[in-house]
Amino acid sequence: MSESRPTRDNGLVALYPGSFDPIHNGHIDIIRRASDLFGHVIVAVYDRPDKRLYFTTEERVELVRGAVAQWTNVEVASYATLTVQYAAVRGAHAIIRGLRATSDFDFEFQLALMNRHLNEGIEALFLMTSLAHAHLSSTLVKELSQHGAPINDLVPNGVGEGLRQKRERA
Ligand code: ADP
Repeated sequence: MSESRPTRDNGLVALYPGSFDPIHNGHIDIIRRASDLFGHVIVAVYDRPDKRLYFTTEERVELVRGAVAQWTNVEVASYATLTVQYAAVRGAHAIIRGLRATSDFDFEFQLALMNRHLNEGIEALFLMTSLAHAHLSSTLVKELSQHGAPINDLVPNGVGEGLRQKRERA
C-alpha cells in the first residue's frame, strides 16, 4: 500500500511541529501521510511547550527518531523559537498539523492565522486524523502507562519501553 510508494521527489518541505511527549500512533499516521506528499518532512520537537513535560527534549527526539527511521525523507530535529520562525529557517513550504475532534479546531485556526500574519509564505496544512487514532493523545497514553494499562497498540515500538523506564525511575 502507501508504505511501498516511492518518496516524492517534488522538492517540497513540510514541518510537522509538536510536543511529542511522547510520540504515539496518531502522530505516526500523520508523519507517514505527510512523507507520502512531501519530498522532505521535518518532525520538529518543540523544546519548551506551554505544558508540563514528562520526557526531556533529548528523550522526545530519540523516541521520535526510533519511530520514523523507516522513512528516508523524514528528519527529526528540536527547536526553541517560534514555530513559524523555525519553519522559515528550514525552508519549509508548509506547517502540518493533525486534527482530531472539532475541539482541536479553534486553537489551530487561531494559530494558523497568527502564523500567516507572521509569514504568509508558509502554508498551514491540516491532515484529518484517521478514525483508528481519533481518541489518541500523549496525555492519555501517559495516564494509561502510569496505571499499568496496555499501550503497545497505541505507540510505536520503543515508546512503551521508554514509558516503562520513566515509570520505574519515578
Ligand atoms: P502540541 O503540543 O503542539 O499540540 P502534540 O504532540 O500534542 O503537540 O501534537 C502534535 C500534532 O499532532 C498536533 O497537530 C496535534 O493536533 C496532532 N495530533 C495529536 N494527536 C493526534 C491524533 N490522535 N491524530 C492526529 N493528529 C494528532
